[in-house]
Amino acid sequence: MFESLNEKLEKSFKILKGQGKITEINIAETLKEVRRSLLDADVNFKIAKDFTNRVKEKALGQEVLTAVKPGQLMVKIVHDELAQLMGGEAENINLQGEPAIILMAGLQGSGKTTFSGKLANRLKQKEKKNPLLVACDIYRPAAIDQLKVVGEQINVPVYAEPENKNAVKIAEAAIKHAKANGHDVVIVDTAGRLAIDQDMMDEIAAVKKAINPSEILFVVDSMTGQDAVNTAKAFNDLLNFDGVILTKLDGDTRGGAALSIREVVQKPIKFVGTGEKMEALDVFHPSRMADRILG
Ligand code: GDP
Repeated sequence: MFESLNEKLEKSFKILKGQGKITEINIAETLKEVRRSLLDADVNFKIAKDFTNRVKEKALGQEVLTAVKPGQLMVKIVHDELAQLMGGEAENINLQGEPAIILMAGLQGSGKTTFSGKLANRLKQKEKKNPLLVACDIYRPAAIDQLKVVGEQINVPVYAEPENKNAVKIAEAAIKHAKANGHDVVIVDTAGRLAIDQDMMDEIAAVKKAINPSEILFVVDSMTGQDAVNTAKAFNDLLNFDGVILTKLDGDTRGGAALSIREVVQKPIKFVGTGEKMEALDVFHPSRMADRILG
């Protein structure tokens, strides 16, 4: 198994004991360990480098008190910096509008459909909302069926028009349907592709324009590591989304994508997916994520 960054820092900092202050020279090896660990956790190279430089600035000149282990001091600096970069405590979803409209964006397989269900379930249970799920994936009939299965599990209706090949029209009709049937939240699940593709981007941009969502959420698989950054940037450039959903954190990834995405798009991570079940949803906690990245 990997040695955790905590352990590595403890080790490389034993040298420092009794040296008084952290200096350029005695910190070099430790910073290398920090960077290596971030790369192991799938943080993007440039971001890992910038991050390490920032940690260095914070650490230089700090007194290494004899009472505190220097390794622990360094771990704390790295941890706090990570947590700070990933944002404050979780931010809410904007539910303004009658109905409130939430648009999902992301690549195929990222977990949009699953998360749409989880969010609908959460809003229903916790906020006593009456959500409507909308199937806007017009390319894969299986996607509509999948959303219906999800809807049945949580007892939330699904709006779909299997014969209609116009995502904008379906979304508009779904909003009308929601208004007529007393739904106060509409969650629109869109088509994804395996990679960024101009047609897909044009389509989701057109859906956004037509329905003017109160919240656009970008869903990304935390296991995709470095690629997640490019995908996030492309979607954000196009949609200027409001928040990020990081899925599949129950897998064995260290979750470095969280840091990379946050740095590149400067948007909060709002929820994390921790399993396939409808209950497997957590609010994002930067401090916990920092612990995870540190290993
Ligand atoms: P979509 O194509 O973006 O709609 O993605 P799906 O919602 O269909 O998810 C793709 C696969 O990932 C499915 O098999 C889901 O069950 C699975 N999945 C989604 N979220 C999670 C999660 O948080 N953890 C795990 N382990 N699997 C997930």
